[in-house]
Amino acid sequence: MSQRIFILALEGVNKTFEGYKAISDLNFYMDPGELRVVIGPNGAGKSTMLDLITGRTRPDTGRIEFESKTDLTNSSEYQINRMGIGRKFQTPSVYVFHTVFENVLLSLKGARGVFASLVHRTSEQERRRIHEVLATVGLESRAGWKAGALSHGQKQWLEIGMLLAQDPKLLLVDEPAAGMTDEETHKTGELLLSLEGRHSILVIEHDMTFVRQLARKVTVLHQGNVLCEGTVDQVQNDERVKEVYLGRKKRDKQPLSC
Ligand code: ADP
Ligand code: MG
Repeated sequence: MSQRIFILALEGVNKTFEGYKAISDLNFYMDPGELRVVIGPNGAGKSTMLDLITGRTRPDTGRIEFESKTDLTNSSEYQINRMGIGRKFQTPSVYVFHTVFENVLLSLKGARGVFASLVHRTSEQERRRIHEVLATVGLESRAGWKAGALSHGQKQWLEIGMLLAQDPKLLLVDEPAAGMTDEETHKTGELLLSLEGRHSILVIEHDMTFVRQLARKVTVLHQGNVLCEGTVDQVQNDERVKEVYLGRKKRDKQPLSC
């Protein structure tokens, strides 16, 4: 008997903050190698979902399974990261006084610590890996720049590169296009698409042009629960989704397109 393997599965997950139900009976499944987009209005529980996956927050009830075998709800944030789950927060956090190269090096060395990483000789293999990562995120020509001199978009790509250096199986990216120019947003889309298949990727995003560029399966989160799942067209044409986004009054009869 073959059992379907999910890179990530959330089942019956609930999380209440001081009486407020941020995540409500959430079920969510992602295939290995999948690039999934999660959208939803402010306060829908998107970032909380990532907090729960990464062990930053504990669910009240429910299971969160990685690769259909490990229940993440019993693991620490550090252990979850070591299993191969990397998270990119909304605001970039790079070492602004270090070079772009050093930033990726620091991430590659992980637990060794900032100072030790920098004084330790970099092996040829490490250099090659760092340049490979920088080429992937389009920053090879900026390797010697101080990270603080990068544009907002470039900082975001550097941080994605820092995650890639750790070769995560699952990459969680929270609103990467926020604050980016249209051109940077488009480049970010191309970057994520280029990673597809090599890593499983969950992207949270608001910008529908960007979501359309990715053109992958979209999950709409609302009040901590999946409202709708489908193609970009299916979710955009769904009456319930329109109501949630436009705040229209709920009608009894709603055509369901996803
Ligand atoms: P989204 O990312 O979809 O905009 P969030 O997951 O950040 O939404 O938030 C969902 C709800 O949970 C919000 O009402 C938010 O205020 C609340 N919330 C999130 N994290 C916490 C926390 N650590 N303590 C209290 N309330 C929280
Ligand atoms: Mg959020």
